[in-house]
Amino acid sequence: MSRSIYWKITIPLIVMVLLAMGFLGFFMADSSRNTQLNHLNAQLVNEAKLVADISTTDFADPALQTNLNALTKTISDEIGTRITFIIPDGTVLGDSDQDPSTMENHSTRPEVIAALATGEGQATRYSATLHKDMMYVAVLVKNQGQTIGIARVALPLTAVDASINSQIRGIISGTVITALLFVLAAALITRMITRPVRQITKAAEGIAAGKLDQQIPIRTYDEIGRLGHVFNDMSQNLKMTMAAIVDERSNLATVLANLTDGVVMTDAEEKILLTNPAVERLYNFKEKDFIGRPLIEAVHDYEIDEVVKKCLSTGREQTVQLESAGRFLRVVAVPITPGHSSATLILFQDLTEMRNLQTMRRELIGNISHDLRTPIAGIKAMVETLQDGALNDKDAANDFLTRIDGEVDRLTQMVTELTELSHIETGKAELRRIPTNVNLLIEEVAAQMDPLAAGRPVTIITDLSPNLPVIKVDRDRIRQTLINLVHNAIKFNNPGGKIVISTKYDVEFVTVSVSDTGMGISKEDLPHIFERFYKADKARSRGGSGLGLAIAKHTVQAHGGNISVKSEEGKGSTLTFTLPLNTGNK
Ligand code: ADP
Repeated sequence: MSRSIYWKITIPLIVMVLLAMGFLGFFMADSSRNTQLNHLNAQLVNEAKLVADISTTDFADPALQTNLNALTKTISDEIGTRITFIIPDGTVLGDSDQDPSTMENHSTRPEVIAALATGEGQATRYSATLHKDMMYVAVLVKNQGQTIGIARVALPLTAVDASINSQIRGIISGTVITALLFVLAAALITRMITRPVRQITKAAEGIAAGKLDQQIPIRTYDEIGRLGHVFNDMSQNLKMTMAAIVDERSNLATVLANLTDGVVMTDAEEKILLTNPAVERLYNFKEKDFIGRPLIEAVHDYEIDEVVKKCLSTGREQTVQLESAGRFLRVVAVPITPGHSSATLILFQDLTEMRNLQTMRRELIGNISHDLRTPIAGIKAMVETLQDGALNDKDAANDFLTRIDGEVDRLTQMVTELTELSHIETGKAELRRIPTNVNLLIEEVAAQMDPLAAGRPVTIITDLSPNLPVIKVDRDRIRQTLINLVHNAIKFNNPGGKIVISTKYDVEFVTVSVSDTGMGISKEDLPHIFERFYKADKARSRGGSGLGLAIAKHTVQAHGGNISVKSEEGKGSTLTFTLPLNTGNK
């Protein structure tokens, strides 16, 4: 760049120097030549007049006219000019350089004509005789007022030309030196002007290469200095804008990464531009493998493809609920530039959990109504029987009252469980920890459950670790958890079966297991038994709300422990939960 600016400045300067010096030289040479010619002319006029005087005597006497030729030579040797004597009719009588007899009549020579007319004539022309440019000056030779001849002196112009040429040489060397100085000056000026421009270029190259932190030193406050200022401001702004964009990008990336909804962005041809981890997990693909590939290849779902196509063609948001990837989804396709349909944002909302929850709630309401209605109907029937006279039969009355009491207990249990679950769900279930000997608690529960077990009949055995550390737990809730587990172990046991409640501990946890020899749980049911309202026994022949284990799980987790199940169908189940020794801040 600097070289081109250099030549852009230098070439016009040189052309200007050449033109200026050319014109100047031409005019100077011309005027100098004229001055010199005028000088020469004046000198020749004087000389001619002198020669005329000297020759007057010889012209006046025809007998002496023959001396004139010799006289020309004498004078010419003295003053160094060519001398010619001519009589008024043009005949040459003497010439210092030529034999006058060979010379033609000179009456037509311009200087002769002018001399005869005005007394003095001059001419400059090429002499065919001497082969040179000559200046001729002719004056009249007079005797007593009579013109008796013409004296002409002539000098070649070579001396004048030589002097002019030397002047022109001077002008040319002056021009060359000036032009060189200009070239040098142009180089210096260009360097000065282009240095900041070079700095700006370098800084701009830096920005282009991604190094945004470019500032250039400002040394002047001229136009280029201002350009530097503007450049620095621009680079600063660019840096800030880029930082803001990077920030926004990382915010967006964080939002996308943590969004539970799946997000895909596609271009006008439904090719994937962007995806987030949620949708990658949903359809089990990696973003890097599918960028630039059609959406359908990643999601394998024509219904979704159709929704996106419709969004593209109408430029309007489209929503659909569908089953895809084994989940129940709401898919929303949003045009990114509404009306232009150039790209589409597709949101995948997984409604499976919600739908399951709704289904479960529906089932719960059904179950609760059924489970409430059964004991209420029993109580009602028994109360009616008592009213109808059974009250008078003391034994029957007692039996009915005992059964009514049992049904009321069932109702109370169900309501308690529902309240507990609602507490857990609304976060109101606060733990009231007190130091507890879990072994003692188990003995209590075993004793409490014994009558129920005996009714089955099932035997409860305890296998408790001695020296079990006392731990701080919410005793009532852990008691309830144990009751739930033992109750299940009785309920799902076979007559004559066994229940073993055991404890052990290590440095971290106290572990409690309740195992039975009952019907066990099928592989399909096993992953679900801790879910709310889940019952493997769909016929609900053994009662229960399906809430016990869900509550147990929440309780144990709230204490910082865990609950798990091992079971083999037909052989029995073992439910195990842990409670940390060190309660920490739980
Ligand atoms: P429920 O009130 O029905 O007992 P739970 O939440 O306590 O509700 O248990 C959920 C389901 O898990 C039960 O309906 C039953 O199918 C199964 N289950 C729990 N404990 C046992 C067990 N010891 N043996 C076999 N099945 C069990």
